[in-house]
Order: sequence, then C-alpha cells, then structure tokens
Amino acid sequence: MKGSSAILLIYTGGTIGMVMDPKTGKLKPFSLDNLLKTIPELQKIDFSIHSTSFKNPIDSSNATPELWQELCDIISENYRDYHGFVILHGTDTMAYSASALSFMLSGLNKPVIFTGSQLPIGMVRTDGKENLLAALEIASERDANGNPRVPEVGIYFDSFLFRGNRSHKSSTQNFNAFSSPNFPPLAEAGVDIIYSDRRILPKEDKKFKIYREVEQNILVVTLFPGLSNNLLQNAMNSKNLKGVILRTFGAGNAPTNSEFLSVLEKLVNRGVAVMNVTQCAHGKVDQLKYETGSSLQNVGVIGGADITLEAAITKMMVSLGNFEPEQVFSNLNKSLRGELTE
Ligand code: ASP
Repeated sequence: MKGSSAILLIYTGGTIGMVMDPKTGKLKPFSLDNLLKTIPELQKIDFSIHSTSFKNPIDSSNATPELWQELCDIISENYRDYHGFVILHGTDTMAYSASALSFMLSGLNKPVIFTGSQLPIGMVRTDGKENLLAALEIASERDANGNPRVPEVGIYFDSFLFRGNRSHKSSTQNFNAFSSPNFPPLAEAGVDIIYSDRRILPKEDKKFKIYREVEQNILVVTLFPGLSNNLLQNAMNSKNLKGVILRTFGAGNAPTNSEFLSVLEKLVNRGVAVMNVTQCAHGKVDQLKYETGSSLQNVGVIGGADITLEAAITKMMVSLGNFEPEQVFSNLNKSLRGELTE
C-alpha cells in the first residue's frame, strides 16, 4: 500500500554516482543530475521523488561526523513533508553513517533507507539501479493503517533490507556487500518485497528530535596476543579521552594479567567509558562466562553483547556527545534502537 507518498532522495556521493576521470583512470564522485539521467525507470514510479545533493559529493571514506549532522539537519528540516528518505552513500562507511543516524534521530517514525552500489550506475552491469529503485519502494511502503512500514534506519543492498545499526560491509567484491551478522533481514526483495514486520522496530511515541552532538575523543583498541601494556598505557594517557572500545577475543575475553587490568581500571576510575566488543563476526560478549571476561566486568568494563563495531563506535560517540555520564553508562548497557540483543 503506497498512498500518496513523497520521498526525499539525498545524494552524498559514493561509487553509485561516480565516473571515471579520463586523466587519472580513477573513479571520482559526479553529480546527482548525471546519476538520475541514467535511470529512466524513475519516471514510471507512482509516487513523487524530490532530490537534494551534498554540495561536494564525496567518497565515503572521507565521511566525518559533520556528514551525519548534515544528514540529520536535512531530514529534520524536511521531516513533516516527506513520507520517507533514501540516502545515496558510499559503501565503505555506510554502516557507520546508518548506525550513527539511528542513534542521532530519536522518535523516528519514518523510513531512512541508505543504499549505494559496488559498480557506478553508468556501468552496464551496475547493481546501483536495482538498489536505488528497491530502496525507494521500501521508503514509500505503508502498513495497513497508512503508516510507514519501516519506521527506522535501514540499509538496502542486493535484495536485503538490514537494520542500519546491525549492518557491516563484509565484501569489497560481491554485490551482496553487506551482512547483518547477528540480526536477520527486515525485508527481502524477490518478485515481491517480503517484509518481516515482527522484526521491524515499532512506531515511536516520542516526539522526533535530533541528538546532534558527536564526541570524537574515543579510541578502538584491538587486542592481540603480545599487545604491550606499556604502549597501551601511553595511548590511554590522553586527558581528552572519553571512551574506549576494546575489541576482545571470543565471548568477550581478554588477558587477566594485573598490568593490563590496571590500565583499564584507571580508565574507568577517570570516568572513561570502556566497552567490550568481540572480534568474532557472529555471537555475543558474555563477560560472565569465563574468568578472562569476568575480570573485565570486575574493573567496570561494559559488555557490548552482540553489537557491531560500527554501532558500538557511533553509539558511544552520540551518547558521550549528548548525555551526562550516568546516562551514557545506562545507554551503553542496553538496546536503544535494536542494535543489540538483550
Ligand atoms: N569508496 C566508495 C565509497 O565508499 C565505495 C563505494 O561506494 O562502494 O564512497
């Protein structure tokens, strides 16, 4: 069911709109007009599409929190006038931007669907057309009551709609570039688009609002056998440090030597938020399962359950940017937008 939907298409850049620079032979971002010209199918769509483009479209490896803020501002300014939003974005950092927006947009009751492609839209075998057309259809879809069917931030790619903050770019080569390791897809496109309504977040009762501030003074530390405690301590000495994500082994395990634990304990005592995210793609952190995990729990490290690294980073950045320490601690310990399994 569609009703009279209007969708706002927001172009940030990415491979989908890139063209080959004849001088260098490298792909570089091009204009939205050029991109739209290559899709005559858009004329046949039975809802209106308006579009807006970032002034300077980028390769998403250059994305910064300012891009997330600009997206939030565009969505907020146009929130009342559109049924849904489709964001064209490079694949490299799409999972970060989708995760960030899921935490920055509070009380969201409209679809915000990210998509892009592995091959530019001007190329014969492009995956960009199908991705864009299906993302538009999903953003316009309504439930039996006429409300948006997917009132959350998603990534549509190669036949699947994933929750944005559960997604991860897992292939540089395949058309199915994204996966959602710990949460099943929200919809799958075949002849029809089949929605798993019970997996989609329910409509929010809260008023729509943006959490716009983003704290950038956080670090990610990947553990490996032989990581130097001295080096770690030095890296953690910065007074500006507000949060650390520890990428641990297996079910959230880490060395139990006292030097390592004391680095973490000092951080927690200084009020730095420390969160435990596993290096495993599937499964969750359980700090109570092994002694090597419970020692982290004992020094005050927060278990991240089955959250992705992208969601952990952006959740920490947005929480630290907008809330007092106690609320940050409480936010990190629970699911805010379906990003982890409680
Ligand atoms: N480097 C590109 C980007 O993320 C890759 C892509 O769009 O697929 O902007």
